[in-house]
Amino acid sequence: MDQQQQYRPGRAHTSRTYPVIPPIYQTTTFELDDQAYADIQGAGGLHETWYSRFNNPTVDAAAAEVARLHGVGPGGADGTRSGQSLIFASGMAAIATTLVTLLRAGDTVVASRQTYGDTDDLLRRDLPALGVTVIRVDAHDTDAWRQMITEHRPAVVYGETLSNPQLRLLDLPAVAEAAHAVGARFVVDNTFATPFCTRPLELGADVVVESATKFLAGHSDVVAGAATTTDRALHEELQRRLITFGGCADPHAAFLLWRGMRTFRVRLAESCRTAAALADLLAKEPAVRDVVYPGRDDHPDAEVVRRVMPDASGAMLTVVLHGGDQRAGEVLRRLRVGVEATSLGGVETLVSTPFNSSHFNMTDDERLAAGIQPGTLRMSIGLEGEDVLLDDLRQAFDTERA
Ligand SMILES: *Cc1c(COP(=O)(O)O)cnc(C)c1O
Repeated sequence: MDQQQQYRPGRAHTSRTYPVIPPIYQTTTFELDDQAYADIQGAGGLHETWYSRFNNPTVDAAAAEVARLHGVGPGGADGTRSGQSLIFASGMAAIATTLVTLLRAGDTVVASRQTYGDTDDLLRRDLPALGVTVIRVDAHDTDAWRQMITEHRPAVVYGETLSNPQLRLLDLPAVAEAAHAVGARFVVDNTFATPFCTRPLELGADVVVESATKFLAGHSDVVAGAATTTDRALHEELQRRLITFGGCADPHAAFLLWRGMRTFRVRLAESCRTAAALADLLAKEPAVRDVVYPGRDDHPDAEVVRRVMPDASGAMLTVVLHGGDQRAGEVLRRLRVGVEATSLGGVETLVSTPFNSSHFNMTDDERLAAGIQPGTLRMSIGLEGEDVLLDDLRQAFDTERA
């Protein structure tokens, strides 16, 4: 009986030495002590590790790594700019929590017209239902951003670094300047570009939100999200909403995210290099009508790319085939290496056709007006290398030989 009462498995230590890899703290709760009680009574328990919806060491390890990728950290002694990340259950939890934290009934948000589908739903349906006015602007139309921001004086300006699947670029410094001139917060979804290609906090963003499900975790095996800011007070506001809305990450998911980020730089370096090489190779293929890649000189936003993503142009590649959507669908079905699937950012190349997946709810005309050509293939480039991917696409183009 005595032994039973004294048994505290969480106090087990392997030895005097530390593990190299952070343990998965698969625990909902932590033993309370005087310091924990003081934090609960003082700061509402925001800082202490006492219940895993508030804080968990494995989740904190993933948050520290996301912050590091964005060039921010504890600040002070180590010379990094002060900033912190929060890890959420999904990218949408990070986005919705951030927007609802920053907006009140009666406020306006000026947002990109080209956003991720569920973000679009949030902007079209959920935020208006809460009394928020939503104004939309084409991502690449910097003059329209300036005009709408000046005219509507929004509380929040929201956009994605790279649009899907047009891969148009948001001029982050210009839009940040316009937002700050009217006192708005600038929130950027950096999922497609990743912190390997651009770090929006360095270009004027107030909050970066990301689907960590994609390139950050990188292995198509975990759903998670992140929000990073250099504003300490705003970080705490977001953390309070993470706690009350409950969109916290599970420790095991956080561990997979942390583990995936260990190879972030080498994965992204290789995938971006492959995407650039494959873009140039595909531009010479007779079956291909158009190649859209931010690193190519013929990209419509090439000048913005040089300022906003100077080092690498991303691992997303959009290819327009001759023959329209039906032909694109046939080619997609014939791929042997590329996987026909939605999502992005894995080590395997994922390919989809927007007309029947991400943009299925638009008519052909609406897609055209949005700059999505018939015959579009969206590719998230993995680690197979350009030769393997080119061979795979060529055999799929060659439908005659099927
Ligand atoms: C996937 C994605 C999201 C949503 O992230 P989840 O992790 O699926 O919730 C948001 N924005 C962009 C650009 C995405 O690609």
